[in-house]
Amino acid sequence: MNKYWSETIKGIAPYVPGEQPRAGRLVKLNTNENPYPPSPEVLEAMKAAVTDKLRLYPDPNCSRLRETASRHYGVPAEQIFAGNGSDEILAFCFKAFFDPGDTILFPDITYNFYEVYGELFGVSYRTVPLTESFEVPIEGFFTDNDGVILANPNAPTGKTISLEDIEFLIKRNRQAVVIVDEAYVDFGGESSIGLIPKYDNLLVIRTFSKSRSLAGLRIGLALGQRNLIEALIRVRDCINCFTVDWIAQAGAIASLEDTKTFTHYIGRIAATRSRMTEHLRESGFHVIDSSANFLMMSHPVIRAKALYEALRERNIFVRFFPKPRIDNYLRVTIGTDEEMDIFYDALMDIVMATNRLLPESEQTPNPGD
Ligand code: PMP
Repeated sequence: MNKYWSETIKGIAPYVPGEQPRAGRLVKLNTNENPYPPSPEVLEAMKAAVTDKLRLYPDPNCSRLRETASRHYGVPAEQIFAGNGSDEILAFCFKAFFDPGDTILFPDITYNFYEVYGELFGVSYRTVPLTESFEVPIEGFFTDNDGVILANPNAPTGKTISLEDIEFLIKRNRQAVVIVDEAYVDFGGESSIGLIPKYDNLLVIRTFSKSRSLAGLRIGLALGQRNLIEALIRVRDCINCFTVDWIAQAGAIASLEDTKTFTHYIGRIAATRSRMTEHLRESGFHVIDSSANFLMMSHPVIRAKALYEALRERNIFVRFFPKPRIDNYLRVTIGTDEEMDIFYDALMDIVMATNRLLPESEQTPNPGD
């Protein structure tokens, strides 16, 4: 705290990203990064972009990237906005569509940045409680509001909302913008992009950080009708016109063009996810059905915090959120098969070691079977 800080910054609790540990051998399953490399074509395109052209500012409108995205998603290029990661685009949305004093809605358990942006931009929010089984209760969003944000699939639960429900929600909220954050949709959800021609209050947000293995590149897209895209451009041009550098634009274009690598790795992640879900359930864990590249899980006896700490001691990093309703869950990113086996074996060791300390009536039956 410092006397020179603004009142907003004094009062805010910034988003806390998962750790980026630097230690040697570790298993990093805490930030939903992709365990597989980016497409080799992406790396080639980026190397080719390292020329004396870097002397020039990049194309502020990312025209080639947007044209490529237009072919890829079947949406006109003028209905696409490119930004420096989807977090940046989400932040722009708060300035573009909401005013201080407005009240927006999002689920009580969702991506924490929505709350942080609300605080930073002075936009009030009401949270809609997920059901007991962590479903998004669509009727909860039919109350008065100045905007709605949903992650679909939701994070950190990994649960999807049906396209039918999303459309119903958009229809019931024509007075306000409905933002659908599809950071994880490529891993198993249904995209709302097809609804864009019908609704001028729908904005879909995508990232290249997860399914495209490019978290380090910082690329996000927003797709929506021109009325919404123009507002985002205005915000960007009031802050920093050149948010996406030349190298990132080149890499993102190559990523969209290489569908083969993308599809291959998505398939591997989905297969590992199914195998891991099954093993963990057989070993007594409660695992939420996930359509994303992570699993939410809890153990009937051992607290999530204890598991998190014991895993951490073994250099296995997962995510634990000390927040109401989810403070007995771990969120575990799907890594390679080898990483998941190390994680699973460590987990079984921890469960067995804890079991030995418990009275028989409280022990987990057949851990590791
Ligand atoms: N939305 C959700 C739901 C996320 O989990 C994340 C990643 N933490 C993001 C958006 C931001 O992704 P990025 O800024 O890397 O595009």
